[in-house]
Amino acid sequence: MDEKQRIEQDLRQQKALLKSLLDSTPDFIFYKNLEGIYLGCNRPFAELVNKKEQDIIGKTDYDLFDRKLADFFREQDRLMLKQGQPRRNDEWVTCPDGREVLLDTLKTPYRGPDGELIGLLGISRDLTERKQIEVELARSNDELEQFAYVISHDLRQPLRMISSYIQLLENHLDSHLDEDTRQMMHFAADGATRMNQMLVSLLEYSRVGRKSEPAEKLSTREILDEVLLFLRPAIDESGARIEISGNWPQLDVPRDEFTRLLQNLIDNAIKYRAAGQAPKITVEVTADDHEYRFCIADNGIGIDPEQQKRLFKVFQRLHTREQYQGTGIGLAFCRKIVEGSGGRIWIESPGSGSGSRFCFTLPMPTAAGVQA
Ligand code: ADP
Repeated sequence: MDEKQRIEQDLRQQKALLKSLLDSTPDFIFYKNLEGIYLGCNRPFAELVNKKEQDIIGKTDYDLFDRKLADFFREQDRLMLKQGQPRRNDEWVTCPDGREVLLDTLKTPYRGPDGELIGLLGISRDLTERKQIEVELARSNDELEQFAYVISHDLRQPLRMISSYIQLLENHLDSHLDEDTRQMMHFAADGATRMNQMLVSLLEYSRVGRKSEPAEKLSTREILDEVLLFLRPAIDESGARIEISGNWPQLDVPRDEFTRLLQNLIDNAIKYRAAGQAPKITVEVTADDHEYRFCIADNGIGIDPEQQKRLFKVFQRLHTREQYQGTGIGLAFCRKIVEGSGGRIWIESPGSGSGSRFCFTLPMPTAAGVQA
């Protein structure tokens, strides 16, 4: 075999490898020239349009899909080629075999060896199953929230009866009560009050994200100022010093939820302070390409790394009520609010006695780079 034959054999092998790689992905891959004529595709794409691969080459979308869909694809191609930028779309597509599939398609410019535009490359992912699971999950979440709402709402009624009858009994027996019995009744009443607080928190928790409150363009800095005004008494009483930094953005978020989020985190930073030390708290926002990161750091009692995950669950506390007041639902609220807006929340604390830093992210209104 001479040099030329060896190079040709290598090339054939590379082509075969590339083809089997493209065929082994579950995604649908295709490429077209500037006139919208298919130059190639992988096997899953051919199966999707129910044709042989060689019968697709040389065709346009009008030969493969119905007119309306082909018009849509042509328009997407035109926009992408005009801007010369990747473009992404979610679209329900009726396949030639009648199946409805949800395709998430990324189209990118296809350039020749000298960088000249010669067509476009497309990769589509079938999101149908994921979408069905999402719909089912949303339905079952809805049902669970409704359940939590009804339970917490209805349980308060008999609880009110318990509280009022304890009160009536206490008044009724007033002069006959010895100190021990009075204390036992006090514990019972206190238990009922606490249970009522927990039910109210649960009720509110089940309402977060119920979309009753529309997201509006808000100045996050204005909200922060409102929160600090509201927390003024606690700030003054503890001698807390609060430093604010960063460029606070305008964001589309529900006002009450964002207020509550900041308030819970700053309130905790004041509340869980180290004995004999005034709280020093920094509240900052930073941004990267696609999200804002808000962080609230304190010099307080800190949190053991093993305990950090569970604190975002409902009614999880590390301290008794005698040490620090609270019901243990604040951070669960924060998590629900942040995740409902497409963000993440986490704690960074080296451990007990070393202060804590709570961070959460919120997505920027549109993702940079790829356009929808
Ligand atoms: P609550 O403050 O009502 O107990 P949270 O859900 O806000 O409820 O907090 C849960 C637990 O997380 C608290 O009981 C506390 O143990 C711990 N925690 C929260 N914030 C801080 C903080 N800044 N520093 C130390 N521990 C904290």
